[in-house]
Amino acid sequence: SRAKLYEPESGPRTTFADVAGIEEVEQEVTEIVDFLREPEKYRRLGAQVPHGVLLSGPPGTGKTLLARAVAGEAKVPFFSISASEFIEMIVGVGASRVRDLFDQAKKVAPSIVFIDELDAIGRARGGGQSLGGNDEREQTLNQILTEMDGFNGSEGVVVLAATNRAEILDAALLRPGRFDRRVTVSPPDLVGRRKILEVHTRGVPVAPGVGLEDLAAATPGMVGADLKNLVNEAALLAARRGHDVVQNNDFTDALEKIVLGTVRGIMLTP
Ligand code: ATP
Repeated sequence: SRAKLYEPESGPRTTFADVAGIEEVEQEVTEIVDFLREPEKYRRLGAQVPHGVLLSGPPGTGKTLLARAVAGEAKVPFFSISASEFIEMIVGVGASRVRDLFDQAKKVAPSIVFIDELDAIGRARGGGQSLGGNDEREQTLNQILTEMDGFNGSEGVVVLAATNRAEILDAALLRPGRFDRRVTVSPPDLVGRRKILEVHTRGVPVAPGVGLEDLAAATPGMVGADLKNLVNEAALLAARRGHDVVQNNDFTDALEKIVLGTVRGIMLTP
């Protein structure tokens, strides 16, 4: 008996307009977008487009977001799995799920398969073991490699994978024809943080006095996911306080709450 078939994500389309502060990285994936839009153009010329791209960088920097935006820009189906979900599966199930996933993706190609937390199954094998081990993790990994090795360029499936521990990945994954394109997604700098704050305050009424520039300056080390959370916490505080718009003190108190991990009377403020 099989679990449900994989289905592409539905819901609102994500585009590059939703991704901020990592423009260089967007540049690096535009070729993939172009290929997915017009695979024929590449096929005719016999041009080999990378079919495995590894997005590496710390948690919350927007790797998943970027992968979704590539699909959104190209207007192709986006299949997403987290490699960690294979870990607890009964032996053999992972590999068959991977086969199903790729079958579905090929059926509706051009399409994207996104594998989050690739390191969960892709870490280097210890003890000089050779490829073809028999635990579930290895079988699943091997099935992914088999699928990618089987691509002859006409499938139109691009595999994007994310990891925040690229250095522990098995070298077998990085061979030509597999994840041979590596894109590093770094935490945003000052300007990047301001741009990310702009994205996340788009639908939020913000008081005229609020300076996103200052907020960006006050949030060194924060990544996109943190900044999104900050804006939401500020909006929640503003609502609780009965403000019509999110004010500067809502932002600064939200930041304090996040940074110090304390609510310090904020809940008591009317
Ligand atoms: P993880 O490694 O934990 O899976 P990730 O790098 O895949 O993290 P995302 O899941 O894409 O990060 O980020 C979480 C959310 O944070 C995104 O859905 C988005 O709302 C926001 N975010 C992260 N990075 C950015 C960014 N560069 N621009 C705009 N929003 C961002």
